[in-house]
Amino acid sequence: MAPRTVPVEVFDLVIFGGTGDLARRKILPALFKRFCAGQMPGESRLIGASRSDLSREAYLEIVRIALKEAGVVRGGPALEGFLDRIDYVPLDAEGDTGWQALGDKMVPGRVRAFYFSVGPNLFANLAANLKAHGLADEQARIVVEKPFGHDLETARTLNAVLTAHFDECQIYRIDHYLGKETVQNLMAVRFGNMLFEPLWNAQYIDHIQITVAETVGVGGRAAYYENAGAMRDMMQNHMMQLLCLIAMEPPAKFDPDAVRDEKLKVIRALDPVEPHHIVRGQYTAADGVPGYREDVDNERSKTESFIALKCHVSNWRWAGTPFYLRTGKRLKTRSSEITVVFKDAPHSIFGPDAGRHNNELTIQLQPNEGITLDVTIKEPGPGGMRLIDVPLDMSFAEALGPGADAPDAYERLILDVIRGNQTLFMRNDEVEAAWAWTDPIIRGWESRGDVPKPYDAFTTGPDGAVQMMRRDRREWRGIHP
Ligand code: NAP
Repeated sequence: MAPRTVPVEVFDLVIFGGTGDLARRKILPALFKRFCAGQMPGESRLIGASRSDLSREAYLEIVRIALKEAGVVRGGPALEGFLDRIDYVPLDAEGDTGWQALGDKMVPGRVRAFYFSVGPNLFANLAANLKAHGLADEQARIVVEKPFGHDLETARTLNAVLTAHFDECQIYRIDHYLGKETVQNLMAVRFGNMLFEPLWNAQYIDHIQITVAETVGVGGRAAYYENAGAMRDMMQNHMMQLLCLIAMEPPAKFDPDAVRDEKLKVIRALDPVEPHHIVRGQYTAADGVPGYREDVDNERSKTESFIALKCHVSNWRWAGTPFYLRTGKRLKTRSSEITVVFKDAPHSIFGPDAGRHNNELTIQLQPNEGITLDVTIKEPGPGGMRLIDVPLDMSFAEALGPGADAPDAYERLILDVIRGNQTLFMRNDEVEAAWAWTDPIIRGWESRGDVPKPYDAFTTGPDGAVQMMRRDRREWRGIHP
């Protein structure tokens, strides 16, 4: 089943930070793939803009290498066609250099998107300079990368600065988790089927688990990560967004504000988290890789590379149903999944030997996107009624065939920006509400002087996370690829 491509208008896309890691690894390959799919129509152009004083040719060489390293280059003519659309402007986000040249390259009246793929300290400067140099017209929109603030106060300040220069409807706060095919499928499964929604509440659901496990350490982002930790880097944004999509009420329609209104209600309904429902960890050296403290060059670091917590959404639908969230670096394998664990059947007609069984719906986001429903059936063969759980498996790659090469998150989200569709982007009040929930949790452990518990690299994290579940007579699902 080949993906359907929906036409977009001719556009100009400026990538501030066009020489940076994110641009090279994600943005440029995503745009190349959309170009190959015919979604950079007419005279649409891409303009890289960074501090480096590069010629256009030198920048094209950076793009060539980036596409090759990303493994997306399919052949000569497509690559050359794509490169023809690319230009470069040396520019200083903090000063006046390059802005006039950038303005001269923009085509009036055309959709113009400005991707802020630079450090967050430059977001405010970019917004102000776009306005000051007359580039923030009605067709302009800005894409703002994470992190969006360090806490509530800084997020509010950033929102105030951005909205001083752009309308909220022109601001796209990107969370690439929301661009994943399966995340949207989560909404399709919930709201497109009669089967699940009647059961989607505290009466039938025992608990929900969300795991985002990475095998990588902090890599080249040590300075940023040491100042952020897993709570700020993953929990406040990606995990929170997944929780919202699982827990929200059905929006009246699939439009940006209807969806975001419902997500906001979930965040606002989150209870504060008790200290004994939080487990923080820090990886130590194993299998030849250094530990966290060596990675960040701080032998006294108290920053967590792992966090697990239990939280409650205090509303009619979810009263009494815990949500267990965990995320960490240098874990056993790379895997992100959401599991909805349904309650046991109220009475077993098969007697104690049949064991207890319940249904689990698992939505896997990476590495392989797909949905599995565990159902209970009779174990085949003679010898009485023994029950086993088997998965009804819908791996998208298998179910939808080889043509179902779904666009990756950045491809989808960038085109949504061009189309002016904000459904999968965070609104200002959502981001602030998420920080309002996060801040007291962080302040709590800072004031107690809590130190993260060590865990060996490439395991499932600190024991405390397992104990937290056991106290509730529950188990984490294994971290599987
Ligand atoms: P990076 O590799 O350090 O690149 C930074 C870019 O900003 C470079 O192109 C640099 O240009 C440019 N730049 C720096 N100062 C500038 C200035 N004064 N004026 C104009 N350009 C300037 O950073 P990155 O990893 O790509 O990250 C970019 C943003 O994406 C950050 O906000 C980061 O938090 C976010 N993000 C990154 C990732 C990731 O995987 N990398 C993931 C999620 C979010 P020169 O090279 O010419 O100096």
